Amino acid sequence: MPLKILSVASEIFPLIKTGGLADVTGALPGALAAENLEVHSLVPAYPAVLAALAQAATVAEWPDFFGGPARILAGTSAGLALFALDAPHLYGRSGNPYVAPDGQDWPDNPQRFAALAYAAALIGRGAIPGFVPDVVHAHDWQAGLAPAYLHYAGGARPATVMTVHNLAFQGQVPAGLLAALRLPPHAYAIDGVEYYGAIGMLKAGLALSDRITTVSPTYAEEICSPAGGMGMGGLLRARAGVLTGILNGIDTKAWDPSADPYLPSPFTAASLDKRAANKAALQARLGLAPRPGALLFGVISRLTHQKGMDFLLANLRGLLAHGAQLAVLGSGDADLEQALAEAQGDHPSRVAVASGLDEELAHLMQAGSDAILVPSRFEPCGLTQLCALRYGALPVVSRVGGLADTVIDANEAARAAGVATGIVFAPASAGGLRHALHRAAALWADQRDWVRLQRAAMEADVGWTTPARKYAALYRESVRARQT
Ligand code: ADP
Repeated sequence: MPLKILSVASEIFPLIKTGGLADVTGALPGALAAENLEVHSLVPAYPAVLAALAQAATVAEWPDFFGGPARILAGTSAGLALFALDAPHLYGRSGNPYVAPDGQDWPDNPQRFAALAYAAALIGRGAIPGFVPDVVHAHDWQAGLAPAYLHYAGGARPATVMTVHNLAFQGQVPAGLLAALRLPPHAYAIDGVEYYGAIGMLKAGLALSDRITTVSPTYAEEICSPAGGMGMGGLLRARAGVLTGILNGIDTKAWDPSADPYLPSPFTAASLDKRAANKAALQARLGLAPRPGALLFGVISRLTHQKGMDFLLANLRGLLAHGAQLAVLGSGDADLEQALAEAQGDHPSRVAVASGLDEELAHLMQAGSDAILVPSRFEPCGLTQLCALRYGALPVVSRVGGLADTVIDANEAARAAGVATGIVFAPASAGGLRHALHRAAALWADQRDWVRLQRAAMEADVGWTTPARKYAALYRESVRARQT
């Protein structure tokens, strides 16, 4: 009998996505099927999820669930076996899953995501008779209370795994909500859900799950340090024995440059000359000058402080001085958006900015950019650079988190050995990026070397097979540990 896994998350690609979390929760179940695991994904039934679930069956119902009626709908969509928590009073809202139209977080987010975690715990304890999971796998703070509810329920329970996709998002909510979130009074303790005088939803998961994972080995180390721990370093150091870093992969079918329906000119490592047509199409689409020889840097990112977009702005003049072009796809902080828009206004043929989430343009940018910039201050794993490797767009990344684990810097030794796949810089600062941009320009001047790097990049193992094997081993081990 395959082990049964319940994956719990607030987003899942392709149904609802704001970031890399959705990519992971959407791709991992398929990869785990190859490891003989049966995975169901529990997600909130936002309108986009309901629309994707054509034929769904009600498999559990609760008349009074965090302030209204709720049920679990079971169905499949995009190859995913889904349990959708249908609670219109909590999730019947279109658009971004966390943010109201006024730009503020929904005020009842604590209840909305506690409810998701509570439903996971109920399923963990047999609420759906045909699917009693061996492991409940909670992703990020939105699911962080699931291990807590299972812990405090007592009795037999599945093994629990908590994955941190980004420690910066912690889900801190007022302590006064303890009863409303259906947590017992004794849960409010330093070894429970209490976190600096509040309830920490991620902290709860980190304290009370059987196993903790994060999305790269380097990030697993960084979050145990005082600076990288963001307030959780002490707890994570105490739990270092059950903490592992498992790199994310990308969906290599969706991201396949040889068969990508979004590309005017699909290509392989053996036909890199065909990339030129994608570059031309990208330049045309974004209004950049049609210059094949200009080094075209792409950025596909949330425009935030974490992503080092201020480092990029500080280097804009230098980048243009090299004769390069810059294409940015992303939205985020208003000041960064405005500064980039101004740069585009000043240099319309050399700087282009597209906002919003645009999957199709993201593919064209990976195929048409010569290099992809990821100058993050911290980066748990990062997916953009994995797509970039696969598409032969050389990643230029800061040496943090998963960026450090996935890109091999083009230093002398790595180039001589033929293993270099990009440029890795430190420190993560405007000065570090300036130096990296110089190196990129120098490398670009030697096209034979550039192509050598592209070929090595395209050979990198960026799929889910290896990570899925590691998750499968972790699940099996966590189940065994509970049985003994
Ligand atoms: P995050 O911290 O935002 O989760 P990741 O790199 O882990 O960053 O994952 C973000 C994913 O979403 C990447 O695959 C990235 O290329 C993609 N992405 C980011 N912004 C956009 C956008 N505006 N349009 C399309 N895809 C985007």
